[in-house]
Amino acid sequence: MTLWRNLPPMPAQMIDGKALAARVRDEVAAEVEELGDVGLTTILVGDDPASHVYISGKHKAATSVGIHANDLRLAADTPQDELLELIAGLNADDSVDGLLVQLPLPKHIDETKTIEAIDPAKDIDGLHPMNAGSLYLGRPRLVPATPLGIMRMLAEHRIEPQGARAVVVGRSNIVGKPIAHLLLQAHATVTICHSRTVDLQRHTLDADILVAAVGQVHMIGADMVQAGSTVIDVGMNRTEEGLFGDVDPDAVELAAYLTPVPGGVGPMTIAMVLKNTVTAARARRGLVSRES
Ligand code: NAP
Repeated sequence: MTLWRNLPPMPAQMIDGKALAARVRDEVAAEVEELGDVGLTTILVGDDPASHVYISGKHKAATSVGIHANDLRLAADTPQDELLELIAGLNADDSVDGLLVQLPLPKHIDETKTIEAIDPAKDIDGLHPMNAGSLYLGRPRLVPATPLGIMRMLAEHRIEPQGARAVVVGRSNIVGKPIAHLLLQAHATVTICHSRTVDLQRHTLDADILVAAVGQVHMIGADMVQAGSTVIDVGMNRTEEGLFGDVDPDAVELAAYLTPVPGGVGPMTIAMVLKNTVTAARARRGLVSRES
């Protein structure tokens, strides 16, 4: 177990999300082989370039582990009713174990209605109120992939949330809130910060485990990081100069563990989408799910 405080300063150990994701994919491939046919369908509406990259990454990974992946791409002006009808058909299609609608959606489509239309048993993004509520109640079923990946990275490095002070910066439904709940369930003392938090640094400096999920290049400066802490950088900020995280790389001099961008949380997210697909497939077949 990691001892939190008073560690001598030294460069952080980088948490290799790419290598761990490869191991998770191997585990998923073994499960897919055992289960037989496992199906994943994704729906992408419109032309958001980042969404195209994410969806292509998910399909490449799904195919590599033997999941039957169906990549549905709809025009940006697809009417809401048409999308809901498509979802209803996929809910009823027994060959579909996991169903994911890539966000964000075009403005004329109601995101809440769309998420609520997905069969909770197939909701591998874990965003349906049934799944979000189960997580809140401490009985997680399908949980968003990014937070699941973060918990797996902590476990792999034996970074123990129990008793730790965890600070999550960001309160989105897809990252901030679910990771806060998972850390709470793992017995961390959790603080959630957001855009209205006063004196953010006061909170982040207190963190043994700091999760940055904001979406602003290097907004967590090295002066906001406690020596000897674990820093999880969820940020994926695409700029003309390249891809950057939310955490200033100088934090490497203070943290004990740090996730790099790229190569940290990103690859783990994709691997955990696959993991969620087999979790859904198992549950739909009445089988107990394997620990991630
Ligand atoms: P989001 O929905 O935009 O949420 C951002 C959160 O940051 C909000 O809760 C917002 O607070 C908070 N925030 C904004 N400015 C802040 C400030 N100055 N101080 C403190 N908090 C502030 O974003 P998201 O979907 O959670 O994504 C966050 C980042 O993670 C993005 O870069 C995204 O691309 C990345 N991401 C990466 C992965 C991956 O696989 N690596 C997966 C998902 C997301 P309010 O609620 O008050 O507005």
